[in-house]
Amino acid sequence: MAACMDTLPAIAVYSLSSGKGSNVADAAFRFHAELNNFLAPRHRARRFSHPVSQDATLKHMIEALGVPHTEVGSVLLDSVEAPLSRRLQGGESIDVHPHADLPPEKFCAGDEAPVPRFIADAHLGQLAKQMRMLGFDVLYRNDFSDAEVASLAEQEERVVLTRDRDLLIRKQIERGCYLHPVAGNEQLLQVIRRFGLPHGSRALTRCLNCNGLLRRVAKEAVADRVPTYSWRAYSHFFECDECEQVYWEGSHVVRMRQRILHLLETIGGCVPSAFKSEPAG
Ligand SMILES: [Zn+2]
Repeated sequence: MAACMDTLPAIAVYSLSSGKGSNVADAAFRFHAELNNFLAPRHRARRFSHPVSQDATLKHMIEALGVPHTEVGSVLLDSVEAPLSRRLQGGESIDVHPHADLPPEKFCAGDEAPVPRFIADAHLGQLAKQMRMLGFDVLYRNDFSDAEVASLAEQEERVVLTRDRDLLIRKQIERGCYLHPVAGNEQLLQVIRRFGLPHGSRALTRCLNCNGLLRRVAKEAVADRVPTYSWRAYSHFFECDECEQVYWEGSHVVRMRQRILHLLETIGGCVPSAFKSEPAG
C-alpha cells in the first residue's frame, strides 16, 4: 500500500525556476479541497507564486507541483474555466479544483450515463472484488506491474484506480482516480461518489475472482461441482464465462447483499432492485 498522504515524498519538479531562457515568469496558484494533500506543505491551503515558462501547459505545471491531472475536475484561469492543455504566459491567477462528488440521487443514473471500465493496481484487491460485486468491470491481478496497468489502461480505455501518485502521472494514463482512503469500504464509497453505480441490473453478475460475466446454468450441469447440501438446497446456479467458477444463492450472496445495502444506506444512495433479488440469468 502506498504511503499515507501526509508522508508523500516530493516528486521531481519541473526545472522551470532555473532562470533558463527569457520566458520565465510567475503565476499564482491555489489548489482546493483534497488536492492540497498532494502539495508540499508550504503550498497547502494558500495562494502561492510559482515560476512557469511560456511552453508549460496547465497540465505540466499542476503535475510539476505534485497533483496528478486525473484528480483535477476544473481549472479557473483568471476566473474563467480553462482546459489543461492551455499554455501559460505568466502573471495568471490559477484555481485548481478536484472532481465534484455526484449527488446521491445520481448514483444510479441508468443506461444514459454509462459507468466507465476500470483497472485497479496490484494493491487494491479488496476494492476490485467489492466493485465486481456491484457489477463494475474491473481488471485486477496481484502481480500487475505499474507498466502493465498503464499499458492496459491506454489500450482498453480504462480508468486507473490506485494510491500511487506517480502511476497517475505516467503519460499513457488519461483517466484515473487516486483513492484517498486506506480502508476498502471507504475507497468503494469514493468510487461511487465520483463515478456512480453500474445501472441496477448489473449487481452480482460478475465473477469476483476474474471479472468474467456470470451466466445462468442448469442445476444438473453443476451437480458434481457444488457441495451436496448446497446443490439440494438451492435452485439457481451461475457459472463464470471465463474461469468456470460456480456461484449459487446461499449465505455468501445474502451477506454480500447486506453489505451492499449497508454501504448504500451509508451514503444515502438509491438501492437498485437487483440487490434484493437473485443475479440476472
Ligand atoms: Zn471467473
